[in-house]
Order: sequence, then C-alpha cells, then structure tokens
Amino acid sequence: MKIVPISLPTPFYIGPVNVYLIPEDPITLIDTGPKTKEAVETLRAALRKEGLSVSDIRRIVLTHAHEDHCGLARALRDEAKDAEVLVHGWETGHRAGRLEYDETRQLLMRAGVPLDEVEVMRRMYEGVRQYADSLDDDHCDQLTDEAEIEFESGALQVVHTPGHTPGSCSFIRHADRTVIAGDCVLKRITPNPMLSPDPIDPTRRFRSLAEYLVSLARVRALAPTLVLGGHGDSVQDYEELFNRYLRAIDERQLQIIRMVPAEGASAWDVSRAMFPGTDDVHRFLGVSEAVAHLDYAHSEGKLAMEMGDGREVYRRLS
Ligand SMILES: [Zn+2]
Ligand SMILES: [Zn+2]
Repeated sequence: MKIVPISLPTPFYIGPVNVYLIPEDPITLIDTGPKTKEAVETLRAALRKEGLSVSDIRRIVLTHAHEDHCGLARALRDEAKDAEVLVHGWETGHRAGRLEYDETRQLLMRAGVPLDEVEVMRRMYEGVRQYADSLDDDHCDQLTDEAEIEFESGALQVVHTPGHTPGSCSFIRHADRTVIAGDCVLKRITPNPMLSPDPIDPTRRFRSLAEYLVSLARVRALAPTLVLGGHGDSVQDYEELFNRYLRAIDERQLQIIRMVPAEGASAWDVSRAMFPGTDDVHRFLGVSEAVAHLDYAHSEGKLAMEMGDGREVYRRLS
C-alpha cells in the first residue's frame, strides 16, 4: 500500500500543509488543504502525476478539522460525486467555526481575555473560515479509535490522538509502522494545544495538554519507524522528538509557573507577559498555550486556581 505525500500551499503563517494520497482502491485522500485556488490546482497536478483526477477520489479522511487540513473537503466530496468523508466525532465543534460558539467565548472570558480582544479573535476567525466549507454531521462518517480503514492491499488503523484538537486522529500502517499524524507530530515546532470546549461537556475546557501528553506516549508505544506530519519534514527518529517535546513542555511549565505573580494572574495576563509583542493572529494561540500549561500545572498541584470576578485567577502555592 503506497502513501504519496503531497505538499499544498496555504495562506497561513505555518506554511504548506502535507496531505497524503493512497492511490489504490478505494482511492483515498488524507486531509485536503485549504479552500484556495492555489491549493486545489496544486492538488490536481499531483493527482494527475498519479494518473488520477479528483473524480476518482472515493474517500476523504481528515486528521482534524482545521482549515488548512479540511478546507477543500466539501468541494472535493461534491466533485468526486459523494466520496465518503471521515472525521472523528469530537471535531464537530471545529468544523463549523470555532469562536461562533458561545462556549468558546465563555472560555476566553473565563481565561481573562478582555471583551474587545474576544471580538478581535472572533473577527479573525471569521476571516480564517473563508478557507473552509463547513461540513454538516450528515456529510461525514465518524472515525473511531482502532477502526481499520481498509484498502485493496492493506489497511490503516485509526489512533485517536487528542491534544492539538479534541478529535485529532493519527493513522498507522502496521506493516512497517508508518504513522500519519496530522498536527500531533511536527518536526520543527511543538504543536500548540488549542483552547477548545470539552466535547463531552462544552461548558468545561478540554484538558488539551494532559490529553496531548497521553497521545504522544501512545504514538511512542506504536514504535513508529516513520512519522508523516501535517507540516514540514517527516520524522524518522520519533524517540528523539518525543524527548525533545517533553523537555520543551517541562521548560514551559517552569517558565509559566514563574510568571504567575504573587498577587495572582489570569491566563490572559500570563500570555501577554509571555508573548508581549504578538499581533492579533497569535494572541489566540498565546492564550491557548497559557491556558493549556496553567491547567496542567494546576492539575499537577503546582499552582492554585480560584474564580474571581468571573475569571480564573492562578496563584503560586505559598
Ligand atoms: Zn491544526
Ligand atoms: Zn495544521
């Protein structure tokens, strides 16, 4: 079973996205790229090289529902005459625009983000949404952990790897332990666990960093020989990357705990202290990272947290 990597341009800061074609029956595309003319043209050219066209695609599998990965899913599905679209059920909230949801807004306010900033973030994400068509629940089938995605000459097994988003999935080809990991494993950057509502109880926050650490360990237990990520080069030495990630996460934990002043601070205050010069686009990522780390430090008993004035205030332990 051949896996063909295809790099597609995106309008985002992160740069090109990797999608993966399995050019055998049923012809399958893992991730789609954003809804831009450049991405769809690059994709068509790559399919042509394999002697294929969009109408040959029978199945679209999504690692997660960020615009750079899922943006073209609906358009390709329509052009391919109702190809099947598969995504984990916990990605529902992401498919239709994140900050539209009252829940996310509530979470941002609880994290201490001022109202005018919440508004800036909402507008920014409405801008990003143009790069994806939303998919309704009845357009998709659900990926479930450990399910087999079968092909003529082999199979990929679904490995639910939440963290970056709640419904992020990876896929393993057991024959040679190749893992397609989406944004769970990226060679050069530590992926950012994004602030999102818990898929089971949307009034709560998804424990992104704690979940992410479990997912990283789960991928490690698969002993992958090759990891194909959503951006950048593939990873041959996952063990080295795994240890590097853990060190980076430990360092960030220490840094963040030190940044909490004696009088206490919200996640927003901490993110502004940590990333003082960031522009609009990156403030959501900044507060996501601060929340993820503060939550984790709190759950590990390294910080105290209490509600004050409708927002969470973290304090150092005396
Ligand atoms: Zn992503
Ligand atoms: Zn991505």
